[in-house]
Amino acid sequence: MPSRPKQHRAAGWKPYKEDPRQVKRRQDRRALATNSTAWRKMRAVHLAYEPLCRTCSASGRITAATEVDHIDGNDANHADHNLQSMCRSCHSAKTARENGGFGREAWNA
Ligand SMILES: [Zn+2]
Repeated sequence: MPSRPKQHRAAGWKPYKEDPRQVKRRQDRRALATNSTAWRKMRAVHLAYEPLCRTCSASGRITAATEVDHIDGNDANHADHNLQSMCRSCHSAKTARENGGFGREAWNA
């Protein structure tokens, strides 16, 4: 069986290992996967508590919310103050505004 020649490493070299505290910080910043049980539960509770689209309500329309949005999309905080109910159309508009949509630069950043 062929074997790979030994690679030269400087004296004292060790493979990179991320600091466990940094791993924790990185994971805490990430939003929950939308297919995770925890997020489904949180979403269901939020929709029961706020069943109407917040953006539509603000402009006098009554629309049933089907989605739960992170108000501050850069903050993966699932606490209630960072969540709002939205209808699909308002949520898509907000996402397109914030992310620019399809990898484009956000126009209002
Ligand atoms: Zn709406």
